[in-house]
Order: sequence, then C-alpha cells, then structure tokens
Amino acid sequence: MIRSHLFVPSKRGYARGERPKVDCILCEIVAQRDTVTRLEVYRTEPFLVSLNIHPYTTGHLMIFPTRHVEDPRDLKPKEVTALHKIQCLALDVLTQRYRPAGFNVGYNYGDASGASISHFHLHLVPRYPREIGFMDILGGAKIMVEDPSEMIAEIRQHFLRLEKEQN
Ligand SMILES: [Zn+2]
Repeated sequence: MIRSHLFVPSKRGYARGERPKVDCILCEIVAQRDTVTRLEVYRTEPFLVSLNIHPYTTGHLMIFPTRHVEDPRDLKPKEVTALHKIQCLALDVLTQRYRPAGFNVGYNYGDASGASISHFHLHLVPRYPREIGFMDILGGAKIMVEDPSEMIAEIRQHFLRLEKEQN
C-alpha cells in the first residue's frame, strides 16, 4: 500500500543549517524567546520585520504577522492594509540604506512551494546591479559582509527615523 505521507516533501531542516526544535520559529521570534536567533528590526501591532537568518542578498528582510497565520487569505482587511504600509516602510529603509537597483518581493505558500516555515512571511530581497560572482572575487572586488548585530542596530534606527518622518 502506498501511503500518502511518502509524497509530502521533507520539512526537516533548512537548506543551510539546523532548524531549532520549536513548533513555529516565527512565533518564537514574536514571543522573544531564546530558542531562536532573534533578528527583529521593527514591529508594529500586527506585524514584525526581521532580518533573514540565511539572506539571499544583503538586506534581505522578512515581514510576518504577530499572530500565527498560514494562509494569506486568512489575513483580515485591516492586516492587509497594515502589511502594505509596513512593506512600503521597509522598502524605503532598504532603499535608503543599501541603494539596491530593484527588489524581489513575495511569499512561498504550501508544501510544494519550497517554504520551510508555515507561518505566513513576506520576503523583501534587494537586488544589486553587480551581484558578486566568482569572477568578481578573483578580480579583487569588495565583498559586502556585514556583522548581523551591527546591521540590526543600524536598520532599527533607519526604521524609527523613517517612521517618524512619515507620520
Ligand atoms: Zn507561527
């Protein structure tokens, strides 16, 4: 007999690194528990912004609701409005801090999507005109490596400053 669970993609571990043994990593971050690396940079009542622990590019942020929501259709209209507002603020922060040439913005949803966390989260990935490749490294180009703890402090300041300016 073929059992249906054989077709469920493995959710064990991240692509890189070990996954903490908790029910939901993002809920742990919301609750400010020490079970997870806390990379929170900003929060409003319904949403929290965090650095991505495995960034695709410098400045890769995630925005997620402070309540455990898995399906984007379960967001309430006022949460959708708040999400858009915080997304715009985050894009302003990243634009000001990193001057990217563009962004990839989106979410993965459902077992086959590649999502490793079921809690709804929106990725903001800044894109740069010359993302560094192997030839750049050989050519001696400067590689952007930032200390996450310094990055967090600095991005937090950007959020607070821009929030003040825009209100
Ligand atoms: Zn959660």
